[in-house]
Order: sequence, then structure tokens, then C-alpha cells
Amino acid sequence: MTVDYLKKATKRSTDDAGDVRATVQAILDEIEQGGDEAAKRYAAKFDRYDGNVVLTRDEIDAAAAQVPQKLKDDIRFAWDNVRRFAEAQKDTIRDMEVEILPGLMAGQKAIPCQAAGCYAPGGRYSHIASALMTVTTAKVAGCGHIAACSPPRPGVGIAPAIVYTADLCGADTILALGGVQGIAAMAFGLFGLPKADILVGPGNQFVAEAKRILFGRVGIDMFAGPTDSLILADETADPHIVAWDLVGQAEHGYNSPVWLATTHRPLAEKVMELVPQYIDQLPALNRENATRAWADMAEVMVVEGREGLARVADDYAPEHLHVQAADLDWFLGRLQCYGSLFLGEETTVAFGDKSSGPNHVLPTSGAARYTGGLSVHKYMKLVTWQRASRDAAKPVAEATARISRLEGMEGHARTADIRLEKYFPDEQFD
Ligand code: NAD
Repeated sequence: MTVDYLKKATKRSTDDAGDVRATVQAILDEIEQGGDEAAKRYAAKFDRYDGNVVLTRDEIDAAAAQVPQKLKDDIRFAWDNVRRFAEAQKDTIRDMEVEILPGLMAGQKAIPCQAAGCYAPGGRYSHIASALMTVTTAKVAGCGHIAACSPPRPGVGIAPAIVYTADLCGADTILALGGVQGIAAMAFGLFGLPKADILVGPGNQFVAEAKRILFGRVGIDMFAGPTDSLILADETADPHIVAWDLVGQAEHGYNSPVWLATTHRPLAEKVMELVPQYIDQLPALNRENATRAWADMAEVMVVEGREGLARVADDYAPEHLHVQAADLDWFLGRLQCYGSLFLGEETTVAFGDKSSGPNHVLPTSGAARYTGGLSVHKYMKLVTWQRASRDAAKPVAEATARISRLEGMEGHARTADIRLEKYFPDEQFD
């Protein structure tokens, strides 16, 4: 496939991973040894916060009182949509049983994790929507205890809207802790929490690395790096909308790639011209993020035909994939590698990020090749069971004994033999 780049990335989003792993491991070790007090020391060090960690009901109510009614209404609107989507997802997970042989029954049960730990980032922006996505989905899944944590702002605590959201969506405990110390508190069961069975939610490289190191001792939703987005556009796309959609996602951070692949060179050229103008219209911090992301990480490319567009998507496996082209049904059928797909100009990644329903915690850095995003399924274990009649056990035991002996596993074979001898004492078996 020929790809003609008008702009190519000069850095990768993982370039600054550096010695994050060693830093995070050291913090985790210290907190595991030192418990609550060690976690509090890190809250003071990184977030200049020495207040209460586990929010009381009075503190939660006081935070809620600070949230303007209109914002509460919007959060409830988003909550309804996210909950509705999660409930429909849950309907697709079913217990089942099948009679494999006469008398040999086997089944599957979907069992929610007992304790979920939900991280809502709060360093650069107050990610209300992350609290919404993680806590609501855990609640719908039926998790026994849901902890939510988010970084406190220096001296004051978690942003009130995040507290309001986590409480509304069903968090049982809310902790004013960010970064590694927040993840550690939930994983190790500090501050009176049950130890989390699963840790979910996006975060910066420290949060992501902490989850990666802890994976195995505890489940995680996925390894979530900096957010990324790819737009596929043909000659029907509106360059102003495409440009704003790229700028909107570039503001996430200096290391958040945005990519445009188009079949229409004039569109690519117009977007190249518009993006810097639109970035200039952002507030200072967002402008700085987007400027660096656009300069170092962004790519604009021209390819041939819609199959060419689809191949770019296969190759990049983006977190967010947005198609602004004719024949959206063809794209829905053809595309295979994405965390979440946005079809048409009338929707946009920000809708999914904030309020439309499908989850916004999604695989980044190409992980969409092998996983989808956060869903009710991630909080649930699909476990299996089996039961056999004595007659059904006979052929299974015979086969099991022979396979086990061929493998050299005599103990396994004997577990089959003893049953055959007990249930069929008058018969001979090889
Ligand atoms: P954050 O909450 O992830 O991180 C803040 C914490 O980082 C602080 O509490 C502090 O403890 C810790 N920290 C800061 N400097 C540190 C250091 N030197 N050593 C150890 N710990 C340190 O917030 P953020 O930094 O704004 O990052 C949010 C991330 O989440 C962004 O990368 C964004 O793209 C991503 N995000 C992704 C999605 C998604 O669905 N993929 C959604 C929302 C946000």
C-alpha cells in the first residue's frame, strides 16, 4: 500500500517510559511495607495534600453541594447513557449449561469480582467521565465493593464533581489519593478497604506502570497508555470538523498522538492549515499540550481508496477510530482494529469520552489488536463447572487414564482408575 505522508511523527508516545518502572516499583514496595502512613507521605510529596484520605458522608455531601445543578443534570444524563449501555452489555453475558455426553453436564457461570478499584485521573484535568465510566460499569456488573480514588488538589482534596460522580454512580468508598499511592491503597487493601480483585481506569505513566507491575496479584482492565485517535476521511468530510476533532484529542497531552488518513489530498492540506489556527484558540495549558502533540506525534497521510483507509486502521489499531466518509456501513463491516469506533460526522470522540454511552476506558498504543475497552465483562469471571453420572464418567475416565499415562502423569491416571474400579468392579480396563 502506498502512503503519502504530509506529516510524520518524530516521537513515539512511549519514548519517555525511561525508568518509570524502577520509580514505581520502589513506591509500591515502600507502601506495601509502610501501609497507610507511607501512602499518605506520597500524597503529601506528589500532590501536596495531607487531609483526610477516606471521604466521610459529610465530606461527600459537602462536595456535592458545590457542584452546580446544571452540571449535575449533565452528569446524570451521561450516567443514564453509560448505565443503559452497560446493562445491555450485561444481557449478552449468560450462564449456560450443555450435556456433552448423556449424563455429563458442563456449564458456565458469570460471577462478578468481589472488590473493584476504580482510578479517575485528576492531574492535568478533572476526569469526571472516568469516574462515571469505571464506577457505573462496576456497579452494573454487580461487584461487591467498589472503591474509587482520584488525586487530591493541593490542600483541598478531590475535585467536587468527581466526588459527586463517584458517589452517584455507586462507589462504596472514595479515596483522596492519586498516582501510585492510590493504586497501591486499593490493591493492598489500605485504609480499611478490601483488597481489590481488579484495578481499572486510565491514568498517566505512573498509574499505568503500577497496574502493570501489580497485574497477576490483581486483575487489571488493560495497560492504558496515552490516548490516541485516528480519523479516516474521504472527499465528503468537512475539513473544519476534521481539524477540530484532531485538536480536541491532541489536547489530552503532549504524548497523545492524533492521525488523519484521507483519500483526498486537498482535505489533508486544508486540515494541515487549520489545525495550528484552532490550537491557538485553546486555553494556555491545553494549547501547550496540543501544540506539542501536533508537532511531535501527529501524522497526516494520503492513501488510495477506502480499502487503503481501512488498512491504515488495521496497522495503527487506534484507541479511537473515527470515520468521516461515505458508506459508513462498509466501514462498520470492514474495520477490525479499534478500541471504539465513531461512524460519521454527527458523532465524535468527545461524545464517547464524556456522555454518549459506550465506555471511554479503551486500549491504547496498538493494544486494540487484541483487546477491546472496559466493559461489564472485564469485572466478571466466566467460570465453568461440570458434573457426571457414573455411566458418563466411564468413557471419560478410560480416556483420561490413557492420556495421563502417555504423558507420564501416573497420579492423574490413578484418579481415573480408582473410579472405574469403584463404579464398575466387574469390568476390566486397559
Ligand atoms: P493522573 O491522575 O493519572 O496522575 C496524577 C498523579 O501522578 C498524581 O497524583 C501523582 O501522584 C502522580 N505523579 C506525578 N508525578 C509523579 C512522579 N514524578 N513520580 C510518581 N508519581 C507522580 O493524571 P494525569 O497526569 O493528568 O494523567 C491522566 C492520563 O490519563 C493522561 O495520559 C490521559 O491521556 C489519560 N486518560 C486516558 C483515558 C482513556 O480512556 N484512555 C481517559 C482519560 C484520561
